[in-house]
Amino acid sequence: MIVADQKPLEEILQMLASYKRVLVLGCQSCVAVCMAGGEKEVGIMASAIRLARRQQGRDVEIVEGAAKRQCDDEFNEPFAGTIEKQEAVLSLACGVGVNKLSERFALPILPALNTRFFGEVERQGVWTEVCAGCGQCILHLTGGICPIARCAKNLLNGPCGGVRDDGTCEVKPDLQCAWILIYNRLQQLNRLDYLAEIMPAKDWSADRAGGGPRKRVREDMML
Ligand code: SF4
Ligand code: SF4
Repeated sequence: MIVADQKPLEEILQMLASYKRVLVLGCQSCVAVCMAGGEKEVGIMASAIRLARRQQGRDVEIVEGAAKRQCDDEFNEPFAGTIEKQEAVLSLACGVGVNKLSERFALPILPALNTRFFGEVERQGVWTEVCAGCGQCILHLTGGICPIARCAKNLLNGPCGGVRDDGTCEVKPDLQCAWILIYNRLQQLNRLDYLAEIMPAKDWSADRAGGGPRKRVREDMML
């Protein structure tokens, strides 16, 4: 899922300073799971804004809502009538949701979140990055553990020389070395032979450099 954090309220109030009619629109998908932008967070955010504006003597009319998935027009469309009556929308979705609403509606769509990474729930209240969206997945060779996202040096062919004696990372001592995890997992799968395979450097130019946004086209799915 996409993991995001709420921006500080001060920053949000500044963004909203010139608007008097605002829709606070959450997303019931990833950002609801990481408790940054779901229905509950919309309610809390809307109350905080109302209160702050009242204290400033500048009331604001706030409508609340939460789309099932803000990254998909289909789920934003039911809010179209409400959106068009506002001066601005405060989006509690990831950056994809903000982009999606901005393409569809003429009014300002303001981000209430800082989008962070693709992650997993580690334990209650802790999310960890596990995939960096590199576009050239090698998880079949690394036992399902991503060295790009989980090794502090993004190493592709085994650990650096700095792994600590207890198996933690040289750079982040609170983390297990990704390559120790990969080794243990491959051992469990009886596939340590994969470690002998030299992984070529990733071709970042194909996906990342100079070409604008990445795009995936599935002609078989097109109408
Ligand atoms: S190699 Fe890692 S960063 Fe790349 S797609 Fe696979 S999991 Fe994601
Ligand atoms: S100790 Fe392991 S996880 Fe940390 S940088 Fe070195 S190889 Fe990567």
